[in-house]
Amino acid sequence: MIAEIICVGDELVLGEVLNTNAQFLSKELLSLGIDCKKHTIVKDKLNDIKYAINDACKTSNIIILTGGLGPTDDDITMQAIASTFDAYLSLNQDALKDIENFFQARNIKMPVSNKKQALIPNGATILKNPIGTAPGILWKIKENTFILSFPGIPYEMIEMWHKSAKNYLKNISSKNIIIKNLKHFGTPEAKIGEKIKDLMEKDNPQVAPYVENGTIRIRISSHNESKEKAEALLKNTEKAILNKTLEYFYGYDNDTLESVVGDLLKKYNLTLSTAESCTGGLISSKLTDISGSSEYIKLNLVTYSNEAKINMLNVEEQTLIKHGAVSPETAEEMAKGVQKLSGCAIGLGITGIAGPTGGTTEKPVGLVYIGICDDKKINIHKVQLNSKLPRFKIKALACNYALNYLRLFLTKK
Ligand code: ATP
Ligand code: MG
Repeated sequence: MIAEIICVGDELVLGEVLNTNAQFLSKELLSLGIDCKKHTIVKDKLNDIKYAINDACKTSNIIILTGGLGPTDDDITMQAIASTFDAYLSLNQDALKDIENFFQARNIKMPVSNKKQALIPNGATILKNPIGTAPGILWKIKENTFILSFPGIPYEMIEMWHKSAKNYLKNISSKNIIIKNLKHFGTPEAKIGEKIKDLMEKDNPQVAPYVENGTIRIRISSHNESKEKAEALLKNTEKAILNKTLEYFYGYDNDTLESVVGDLLKKYNLTLSTAESCTGGLISSKLTDISGSSEYIKLNLVTYSNEAKINMLNVEEQTLIKHGAVSPETAEEMAKGVQKLSGCAIGLGITGIAGPTGGTTEKPVGLVYIGICDDKKINIHKVQLNSKLPRFKIKALACNYALNYLRLFLTKK
């Protein structure tokens, strides 16, 4: 089964709205073993929509449209679908009843224009919309060719997908696709690429690395008509990859550096406090994104100025004068200072130059020092990030380096 997604809307083509519907549907299709061949976005123009549907029919047998099902005159997707397949639109009584009920439940008189949303191509089945007015359709045009249409509003489309369309497509797809992501940190993508080159050349399982803020995610995707065989294929590939990359591996699919750090702190029953300078609270924000983090996070400070470092963390004025705010000595005193102030088992301090201004030859933009301590030891790490990166990227990377060093510190406990 091959699918194509056509998203309709001037606002998408003009770049005002990001096409998240296509992203959602592609991921869902893949999980059902359906290959998505193409995303197309078109304006709310009859001929453009018809052209896109006709074109999709040449190569795909599942064509999914989103958008253009509203009550206004510029919403013409149903009209375009009907016209493409020489069908006519007729009033679907079930759909009309649902739309009337929608307004009745809210004590609002139904605007006349909403009646238009009950006009469905002859032969199509309606997909009920439990949270909005526009129903979608599922239409088997001919043997092995299906047209689906959803409203553009993402939460309506997602609800309708899960309630009806997904199960239907699951039943017509004969392939089992299993996907697993292996997440790594602390080595360049190219190095990982070299290690798994032979595996990346295979078609099934497919192995592909992706990078985001220093994390290298290796996606393994395996398919087979037997679920068990697909799983076994994936397991073997996972083993082969981890044989070569284990030292950088930190987790699977939804694991993040902050969730892994959280798990380790809980496992060893430890508490953590942080003092941030260049990351401006990003580390604190990430750590506290994890539900239940109040169990181990006690005090997170953003000590941006020298005064704050001196007054709150007891960083020596002489340290700042002699070595500067961005130095291993300051990172060490920040970590120790916040650990002492909070009474936590672990303290983390981070200081660096996020740029684009403030860099010098000796201390370029992207230079970051991270200190991590407990009662017995302190580790200081120097990281030099690419000076040309924008400020937000340097902050995001510095944050992930700190979380990864924290993870390693805790792993070795
Ligand atoms: P209605 O007109 O009743 O709101 P509709 O089915 O006609 O519903 P659209 O008008 O196409 O849907 O889009 C409604 C809103 O949904 C848009 O303003 C846009 O914000 C959002 N939207 C539409 N298509 C997409 C898409 N592909 N990805 C993300 N958001 C979208
Ligand atoms: Mg609309």
